[in-house]
Amino acid sequence: MALIVQKYGGTSVGSVERIKHVAERVAKFKMLGHQVVVVLSAMSGETNRLIKLAHDVQSNPDSRELDVLISTGEQVTIALLAMALKDLGLKAKSYTGSQVRILTDNAFNKARILNIDEQHLRADLDSGHVIVVAGFQGVDEHGNITTLGRGGSDTTGVALAAALKADECQIYTDVDGVYTTDPRIVPEARRLKTITFEEMLEMASLGSKVLQIRSVEFAGKYKVKLRVLSSFQDEGEGTLITFEEDDNMEQAIISGIAFNRDEAKITVLGVPDTPGIAYQILGPVADSNIDVDMIIQNVGANNTTDFTFTVHRNDYARTLQMLREMQPKIGAREVTGDDKIAKVSIVGVGMRSHVGIASNMFKTLADDSINIQMISTSEIKISVVIDEKYLELAVRVLHKAFNLEKAA
Ligand code: ADP
Ligand code: ASP
Ligand code: MG
Repeated sequence: MALIVQKYGGTSVGSVERIKHVAERVAKFKMLGHQVVVVLSAMSGETNRLIKLAHDVQSNPDSRELDVLISTGEQVTIALLAMALKDLGLKAKSYTGSQVRILTDNAFNKARILNIDEQHLRADLDSGHVIVVAGFQGVDEHGNITTLGRGGSDTTGVALAAALKADECQIYTDVDGVYTTDPRIVPEARRLKTITFEEMLEMASLGSKVLQIRSVEFAGKYKVKLRVLSSFQDEGEGTLITFEEDDNMEQAIISGIAFNRDEAKITVLGVPDTPGIAYQILGPVADSNIDVDMIIQNVGANNTTDFTFTVHRNDYARTLQMLREMQPKIGAREVTGDDKIAKVSIVGVGMRSHVGIASNMFKTLADDSINIQMISTSEIKISVVIDEKYLELAVRVLHKAFNLEKAA
């Protein structure tokens, strides 16, 4: 007998039929003698609908009330699944995040899980219940409802698996595993049988939305056995996230390509090339709680230099306005910005032991006349910022250049 946590995403619970289908899958695992905890997302499109409602009422929705609102989507699906399970003759009980007591910090809309009271869940499991938990939500120490950021049900799933010391956490979604890149963009993308934890962490942080980054962090910290599978197929082993670089025959130099349209670029032109200028520019940005991703400072000429950095697109207008207000103080000639950019990254642990990967990437983009605006590298990834309109082309040509397609 194993204890399995299964998380089903929005499309997988997108209709009454899909929910009944999930109930049947859960029943199968129960029949095999396993204990099952199910974590659900809201029906697909529901969280977006609720966010839009909030914006229709308040131009900048109050963050506490927004969480009260957007946590409701998951409450609908857990109740429906518990009913569907009972209809199949199983014992089942649904729980919201605060009923479980998934304790989080108080950062509304992007809260972090601090602790999970798993004792009473264990009691329910021992009495034969299937437990159905609302993903994406928790409660802070004052009893306020919090949410975990978009895609946060993945993190609920992995955190519950960690707290319950589950044998496996299965993430059921609308694709049958982690692919070399988003199969919606590149139909030739190939499913990976395994991906290392480090690579998955990079892929998630660089924009592959198949797993929320915090879920991968949790899996790494608590060594949760994590697998991504399709809820639309009855067979298949999906993709296993592994913690060791094994002797896996599949190991390629590059495992995958991630991309992200969520960033925007700010350029501060002609600032004095003196010590402390980076701090003068980025200090106030950090103080305003704006995350900066890539940063470039050009070599100075005539005692001035240019400074470019990227922020989340949601923070673009605010950052641009802030820098323009600071312009006289920092002595900049001009502050410009561009929110029509995209970041494309190649990821692979094989990069550690191979040279020429970056030059291959740059040549491939040059051959298609795609201009690189910024570059950043780490041990296992290379990211470039390009014009958003070339994003799909860039992903396709890189996927081909690094031989990631499935065998013909
Ligand atoms: P869910 O609602 O089940 O959480 P998501 O939409 O959050 O599903 O994540 C699944 C989607 O992630 C897929 O439909 C796919 O388009 C996208 N995706 C992006 N990159 C990848 C990748 N490398 N492998 C698989 N899917 C990916
Ligand atoms: N329903 C939430 C969202 O759409 C959480 C999730 O699906 O993981 O972001
Ligand atoms: Mg998701």
